[in-house]
Amino acid sequence: MQSKIFWGCLLSTISLLTNSKILAQTLPLSPQLIPFSSSEGEQLLVESNARQDYFLLSNQFVTQINQAYCGVASSVMVLNALGLPAPESTQYKPFNIFTQENFFDRVETKKVISPELVSRRGMTLAQLGDLLNSHGAKVQVYHGADVDLDRFRSLIVQNLSKRDNFAIVNYLRKTIGQERGGHISPIAAYNQRTDRFLILDVSRYKYPPVWVRAVDLWYAIKTVDTDSGKTRGFVLVTK
Ligand code: CA
Repeated sequence: MQSKIFWGCLLSTISLLTNSKILAQTLPLSPQLIPFSSSEGEQLLVESNARQDYFLLSNQFVTQINQAYCGVASSVMVLNALGLPAPESTQYKPFNIFTQENFFDRVETKKVISPELVSRRGMTLAQLGDLLNSHGAKVQVYHGADVDLDRFRSLIVQNLSKRDNFAIVNYLRKTIGQERGGHISPIAAYNQRTDRFLILDVSRYKYPPVWVRAVDLWYAIKTVDTDSGKTRGFVLVTK
């Protein structure tokens, strides 16, 4: 029996070693992005004068449960970070917490868009705002076409300096040097020396959190979402 376990462990170890090159890994990052987990990325957070949201959001950081649920995962993080009244979770009964599974339980939420449709096509910026609103959050929606770089930067930086509100950004990955379509994730901090924002990317199987230049992110929110015919953008969310 002992030797069976031994051989089992040994075979598993050999299999892990031989498969090490094909284990799941995130995609390589473009040089224009700074990975948060690097020493430089850490330093940018230490220096940051606008990082209040980082601590609350990192407590709630989740991976999107399917490849179209970036908006749902981002919303769940922000709703939990705001401390809004949460529904009971089937998984964690009797505890109440927003999850990607119970996000659409409310009738008002399903009226905005169905979970089936979001699973297939994702959501637009306006739908993101309406979905958050259906859970009792107050939301301001900003399209990329309506804000210049200075206003974009100052609105987000002001938000990141206060703990009772949050910013979620809807951007085109390609514009910031990633693969490649539209995406949604919360912004957690700003570094004034390098003029970069920290994105807590909810597709954690694909990319790590990154520091992106404000100007690159601004160009990425000014792209047009073909589903809405409007530019992408960001939402500011409070209780
Ligand atoms: Ca804030």
